[in-house]
Amino acid sequence: MTEPKPATKDPICGMTVDETTAIHAEHAGKTFYFCSVLCRQKFLAMPAGAEPTGPTARLRY
Ligand SMILES: [Zn+2]
Repeated sequence: MTEPKPATKDPICGMTVDETTAIHAEHAGKTFYFCSVLCRQKFLAMPAGAEPTGPTARLRY
């Protein structure tokens, strides 16, 4: 049984990214993937507690 690879979204801009090639960062024990270093920088610059949630936060541990 083959399972399609779930799409991973950039939590900053919502763009779908390929986690095998995307830039990533670890935060609060989770790995987040980004379309570019700019989105990664924005994510890392966010204050604690401003962690994105909602439909874009579909992440695998
Ligand atoms: Zn992005």
